[in-house]
Amino acid sequence: MTHHILIIGAGQAGLQAAISLRQAGFDGPVTLIGAEDTLPYQRPPLSKAYLKGEMALDRLLLRPDAFFQSQNITLRLNSVVEGIDRASQTVTLVGGETLSYHKLLIATGAPPRRLPLEGADASNVYYLRTLKDSDKLRNILEVDGRIVIVGAGYIGLEVAAVARAAGRDVTVLEMADRVLSRMVGNTVSNFFQNLHRGHGVDLRLGAQLCGFTNKGGRVVAARLGDGEEIPCAAVLVGIGAAPDQGLAVDAGLKVENGIWVDESARTEDPAIWAAGDISNFPSPFYGCRFRLESVPNAIEQGKTAGLTMAGKEHIYDALPWFWSDQYDVKLQTVGCLPPADSANRHEIVRGDAARAPLSVWTFVGDELRSVDAINEPAAFLMGKRLIAARTKIDAKKLADPATELKSLM
Ligand code: NAP
Repeated sequence: MTHHILIIGAGQAGLQAAISLRQAGFDGPVTLIGAEDTLPYQRPPLSKAYLKGEMALDRLLLRPDAFFQSQNITLRLNSVVEGIDRASQTVTLVGGETLSYHKLLIATGAPPRRLPLEGADASNVYYLRTLKDSDKLRNILEVDGRIVIVGAGYIGLEVAAVARAAGRDVTVLEMADRVLSRMVGNTVSNFFQNLHRGHGVDLRLGAQLCGFTNKGGRVVAARLGDGEEIPCAAVLVGIGAAPDQGLAVDAGLKVENGIWVDESARTEDPAIWAAGDISNFPSPFYGCRFRLESVPNAIEQGKTAGLTMAGKEHIYDALPWFWSDQYDVKLQTVGCLPPADSANRHEIVRGDAARAPLSVWTFVGDELRSVDAINEPAAFLMGKRLIAARTKIDAKKLADPATELKSLM
């Protein structure tokens, strides 16, 4: 009997696995199940070019409809899986239909955390994950009144930049004492704080959002811990994401901050793989486990899952990297920022810390751990090569602006 491969989640990781299965020569049936009603699409532009109205839907799609037909990949859109039965190797869809599998990939991603506050279920409180969310958010860029953004992570800051460009008044409320605190160090946080304030964003750090004042089912003001009320027309919440692991928990798979997999994206069940934002995987390079929320991770791990499901051994061992576009600034980060209290942690800034282009190179001792490049793609690319090669770098030479980066290799 032909082997049927079932993929739950038609995002970047799920689609990449289907593509890689075919590229590896697997010619049996492949079914890709997606909860949304759109062909698989890229999410990064949803808080950037697509939200601004500068990118059409057809450019957002990862593959046209014809691709799925030509590759004989069955797309089941608008379909939600409600259970996995590992004993019978079947999944059940909402509505009762049952599909059997020989191999299963779980690529359900990480939906946004909800704000646990009274009044946060109002009709003008928005979250951003899907195409429909971005379409709705685009409407608020045209409303009169202030937009309050909760959270100064990637989503909050990227949307703040788009909203300012659209002429909206924007207040960003961040609980931590600096922006992007999970991803970058102080120097880069300072740069982005100044960038947003320079563009007129009312950025509040260490802000305690306590609740909302609602009228007629809509939020009309955000209430802070010190009693201040910020009148607003809409609220966008970007306070992080959590892995969508309920199916795996119910199926009895090992789950701890994501579904546990090995370096080939296999779970402990030999018929089940997991990839993308949902997976908690070991990194051979770092010798520890990660769960990463990023497109490069989804693509590379999706590829590993596809190849190994097709019977071709493959190990996922890529360095983490991220990017973000805000105003006319591109931030590219590679590697893992060492914890702030790491002994012998130090950084070297190439360029003026207040002005792009610049790059921030963070070390533990003489080991380069991460590079943040702001409008400086050459530093990002060189950082990637140097970290991957574990090159010992002469810090004095790196700090010298006259040093050409390629001479460090
Ligand atoms: P995020 O990057 O984790 O940032 C969330 C921020 O909100 C953190 O700074 C967090 O502070 C803060 N926060 C949490 N609770 C808060 C509260 N009650 N009040 C005020 N601030 C609060 O998450 P995100 O921006 O929501 O993004 C969600 C997902 O989309 C992530 O997977 C992200 O990687 C992805 N995404 C990525 C990009 C990109 O790579 N360019 C762009 C858009 C979206 P603490 O850290 O102190 O909790």
